[in-house]
Amino acid sequence: MSSTARMLFDNGSHKVLCFDQLVTGDGVQSNQFLIIDDNQHALLDPGGDLTYMPLSLALSQHITVRDLTYVFASHQDPDIISSLDKWFLHTNCKVVCSTLWARFLPHLSAAFLSKASGVSTTERMVAVPDRGQDIALGRSVIKVLPAHFLHSVGNLQFYDPVSDILFSGDMGASMVDDAEPVTDFASHLVSMEGFHRRYMAGNKACRLWANMIRELKPAMIMPQHGRPFVGAAMINQFLDWISNLECGMDLMEQADYRIP
Ligand code: FE
Repeated sequence: MSSTARMLFDNGSHKVLCFDQLVTGDGVQSNQFLIIDDNQHALLDPGGDLTYMPLSLALSQHITVRDLTYVFASHQDPDIISSLDKWFLHTNCKVVCSTLWARFLPHLSAAFLSKASGVSTTERMVAVPDRGQDIALGRSVIKVLPAHFLHSVGNLQFYDPVSDILFSGDMGASMVDDAEPVTDFASHLVSMEGFHRRYMAGNKACRLWANMIRELKPAMIMPQHGRPFVGAAMINQFLDWISNLECGMDLMEQADYRIP
């Protein structure tokens, strides 16, 4: 295991770090991100018990962990946010998530934690409405984009306008062991196809999302698992593929709903 961060962007006052080697043994490879702007810090999709210790140690090399400003959660899954109680206990962070999950995520945190800090769990949740919003971070913002049904019913993605990176959560995720940029889209497909067919809810959501991203024109699409897409040519190949993919509900038939 290496706690070395991959620096995705650094202009002095704004930094984006990727921790891609913290999950070892069981559990799918996953990427965690720290965005620093001025004196504020945001951690994206920190994961669960599996990553909490190595991640907090790695963070402490870059920031005072207690001062963490935000934890952003793209959705409610264990590899995304099941370490919520520990971040609440050991830092002063607020947790940004979909309004659909803001009422459920407090189940991950014991009530005594919020009593001890004098701030209720609810007050530490930032519930993002379905259409998304901007969240101020230092002198910049993080744009919280709607990505519902990709794959969770209340699903968010995070765009950092300074680094021009879109953090796409499970969209574009690949089942590989590293986070090196994709170089050959055709051969990369095998590591994405099965996952997207089953975990994404349907072609309509993929297509509408891809239209939004074509307008956004990020320099990089960085998923939570596996390899990023860098540059317009590679990103467009991914958007064209996902726009045409039949997945989720598109593929369901009566045979899939039979009593076993
Ligand atoms: Fe998930």
